[in-house]
Amino acid sequence: MLEIKSLSKTFGAGVAAYHALRSVDVTVAEGEFFTLLGPSGCGKTTLLRLIAGFEQPTGGQLVLDGQDIAAIPPSRRPVNTVFQSYALFPHMTVAQNVAFGLEARGTAPGDVARRVDEMLQLVQMDHLRDRKSAALSGGQQQRVALARALAPRPRILLLDEPLSALDLKLRKEMQAELKRLQREMGLTFIFVTHDQDEALTMSDRIAVMEGGRLQQVATPRDLYDHPANRFVAGFIGETNFLPGRAAEGQLRLDGFAPVALAEAKAVNGAVTVMIRPEHIIVGREAPDCVQTSGQIDELVFFGTDTHVKLTLPGGASLTARAQNSLHSATDLNPGQTVPLSLPYDALRILPDEAAHAV
Ligand code: ATP
Repeated sequence: MLEIKSLSKTFGAGVAAYHALRSVDVTVAEGEFFTLLGPSGCGKTTLLRLIAGFEQPTGGQLVLDGQDIAAIPPSRRPVNTVFQSYALFPHMTVAQNVAFGLEARGTAPGDVARRVDEMLQLVQMDHLRDRKSAALSGGQQQRVALARALAPRPRILLLDEPLSALDLKLRKEMQAELKRLQREMGLTFIFVTHDQDEALTMSDRIAVMEGGRLQQVATPRDLYDHPANRFVAGFIGETNFLPGRAAEGQLRLDGFAPVALAEAKAVNGAVTVMIRPEHIIVGREAPDCVQTSGQIDELVFFGTDTHVKLTLPGGASLTARAQNSLHSATDLNPGQTVPLSLPYDALRILPDEAAHAV
């Protein structure tokens, strides 16, 4: 539906030039909840502003439904934006705010009234339709901003950190509601966040960005289980990194016996191996695992599980997560040395960027 082709954006020129986006290529499908995720300054908002038409690209193309939209001004693009700050008109009522964009587009008055009713019911704000928007809570303003942006039936709704001003409980409620709306109405959302949990729980696909580049575009599950590089692995969820070498189908983690791994066939040389804390088996030797032991430095209780911080014989640190049930994880104590099993199929070999940089 939306093809983003080699899109670049440079602010300034010469020595002051800043490359906010570097040749971004990705296609967003109709009906998709597509999330741009990355740390502050990685270029998420810049990409959204280019799609909305608030900024012009330095290079590349934006093709919507087969048509290049470069020449279409923002007000005529079939996309709409929900801003972090909501950008409501404080002196207008809820209903007037929702009607505003429709009237500006020249919609017939009867259609405006019908559409405003429909949108306010959709976001459950009908009962407050005559209240001035300045007198609304943050969550209510968020709903009105959403209704206003959806009213002209945009092909794509762009959402720039729309929930970040809400407290945690309200934020969770609005996450569920946004997702329900998007799914039930079959809308296409491009959603910007720097909150990895929000991205993982809401998205069909996530584009992880860093330094103006797309690092990986994948489903939440794939990003978590098969990160493309160390940045993605570290940005999504908790993880452990262990140095090693791969050659001829054998993986040798520093300080361990070599293991034969199918994944190791494709790589030669220095690698970083990743393993998620919840995949490490603490306290016993298990089959099909790299075996080692670790001394427990610290135990942190998290309710459903306990984070176990350990030091391996070679001095490396590792964090494991032991599931808590009524009868488990109670026999671990700081100072104790315990067997550790690292399942072969949980070891992910990442290209060693440090080694490549040398
Ligand atoms: P955040 O999560 O903090 O909003 P972001 O990922 O959305 O970050 P952008 O707002 O896209 O990041 O900014 C990307 C980079 O481009 C930043 O380093 C920013 O300072 C720079 N930038 C953005 N707009 C301009 C501008 N008009 N002129 C110069 N530099 C800009």
